[in-house]
Amino acid sequence: MQGDTADTIPVPFSRTRIEELETRYPTPFHIYDEEAIRAGARRLYKAFSWVTGPDGKAGGFKNFFAVKALPNPYILRVLKEEGMGADCSSLPELLLADAVGIQGEDIMFTSNDTPAEEFVQAKKLGAVINLDDITHIDFLEKAAGIPDLVCFRYNPGDEYSHGNPIIGNPGEAKYGLTHDQILKAYEIARQKGAKRFGLHAMIVSNQREEEILADAARLLFSLAVEIHKKTGIRLEFINLGGGIGIPYAPADHQVNIEDYARKVHEVYNEIIVENGLAPIRIVMESGRAVTGPYGYLVSRVRHVTKKHRDYVGLDACMANLMRPALYGAYHHITVLGKENLPLDHVYDVTGSLCENNDKFAVKRPLPKIENNDILVIHNTGAHGHAMGFNYNGKLRSAEFLMQAGGTFKLIRRAETINDYFATLDYEGSDFSGFARKKTPSAILPQ
Ligand SMILES: *Cc1c(COP(=O)(O)O)cnc(C)c1O
Repeated sequence: MQGDTADTIPVPFSRTRIEELETRYPTPFHIYDEEAIRAGARRLYKAFSWVTGPDGKAGGFKNFFAVKALPNPYILRVLKEEGMGADCSSLPELLLADAVGIQGEDIMFTSNDTPAEEFVQAKKLGAVINLDDITHIDFLEKAAGIPDLVCFRYNPGDEYSHGNPIIGNPGEAKYGLTHDQILKAYEIARQKGAKRFGLHAMIVSNQREEEILADAARLLFSLAVEIHKKTGIRLEFINLGGGIGIPYAPADHQVNIEDYARKVHEVYNEIIVENGLAPIRIVMESGRAVTGPYGYLVSRVRHVTKKHRDYVGLDACMANLMRPALYGAYHHITVLGKENLPLDHVYDVTGSLCENNDKFAVKRPLPKIENNDILVIHNTGAHGHAMGFNYNGKLRSAEFLMQAGGTFKLIRRAETINDYFATLDYEGSDFSGFARKKTPSAILPQ
C-alpha cells in the first residue's frame, strides 16, 4: 500500500493531448514514447561499447530486439536506426524483421519446437540460426542444410537457480541443450560443415539484480572456455539472451545498465581474456528493457461500482494487457489530471471480460475515481498489446508512436468486428462483411 501520498510516477503526455487524440481514435490504445525508446537504446549501446568485434575494434555489441515483446514494424525501424537487430522465433516475426530491412546476421532466429519451413526461411534470410536441441542439427540439415554459422542454446539445469516465476527454474524449462549435449553438438555441427559458432542462453527473466545478470554471463563465459578446451572451437559470439528486468512497481530497483555492463566486462576480462579467447562478441536479446517502460495503455473509465469491494470498470481489458491476470503482475496506474490528489480510495481496476482475473489492479490505492476519468497503465511497451487475444469477443486496440514534439502517429489501427469475423464462413453468412450481407444485423452496431 502506498498510503495516501500523491502519484509520483510521471506520464509523458497530458489529459488535454489525449482528449485531442480521442476526437479521432477512441480509447483504449497503447502509446509508445519514441524519444525515450531511442534514449534507452543509446544508453545500452554506450554501456557495452567496450565490446570488440572480430577485428578487435570497438562496436562488437549488438542487441537483437526480441520481436515478440512489441512486434510492430514502426518500432523495429526505430530500433534498427539505433543499431539493433531482431530476435525472431516464428515465420511472421522473420517477415517483420525482413520488412524493415533487418537482414542477414542482424536476425537471430532463436526458436523452439521449430517447423522445417521456418528453418528454411531463416536460412534463406541468412539469419543466425540458434538451435534449441541436439536433434535439431539433423533436422536443420535435412530441412535447409547446415549454414556456416551455427549457435546453440544452453540450459544449465538445476545447478542454476536464480529463476523467477515467469521463466521458472532452468531444470524445468523446455529450452536448450544440457551441458553434455552442447559439447557434443558443436563437434557434430563442425563435422557437418559448420565453421563459425555462437553460444546462447536465456536463464533469467525480468531480473533486476546486476549481480545475478552478470552471473549468467559468467556461466556462459566459463562454458566458452570449456568448449574451447574440449573441442578446440573458438566461439565468435556469446548471446546473453534477454531477461533484463524493469521496475514495474514504484519500489522496484531499476537495473543500472552501466553497472551491469561493467560487471560483465570484469567477468569477460577474468575469463575470456585470461584464457586467450578474446575477442568474442557479446550480444543480447533484450526485449522488455528496450520498450517495456516506454509504453502506456490509455483507457477510459466506464463504470465505478460498489459491491463487496469498490470497482473501476475500464474500456480496456485483458485483450489489451494480459500480464496482471497471467502473472499477478503489478502495473502502475495514473489517473490523468488527478496526479496530485491523495491516493485515499482503494479499488479493483477491471476490464469487461467474463473472467474474474480480468483485473489490472487489485486493492489499489488511487485518488477518487469517477466515470469517464482517463487511466494510464504504465510499462505496457513489452508483452502488452503483443499478448492480446480475442476471447469473449474482445478486440485488440490501436497503437500509437509518440514522436518528437509530442505528435501521435498511428502505427496499428484498432481491430474491428470485421477482423474478428474474418476467419468465419458460416453457411453463406458473411460475418466479415456484416454491413453488407445477411448477418444477424439486428445485434450488430450500425
Ligand atoms: C522472450 C525472450 C527474449 C526477450 O526477453 P525479455 O525478457 O523481453 O528481455 C529473448 N530471448 C528469448 C529466447 C526469449 O524467449
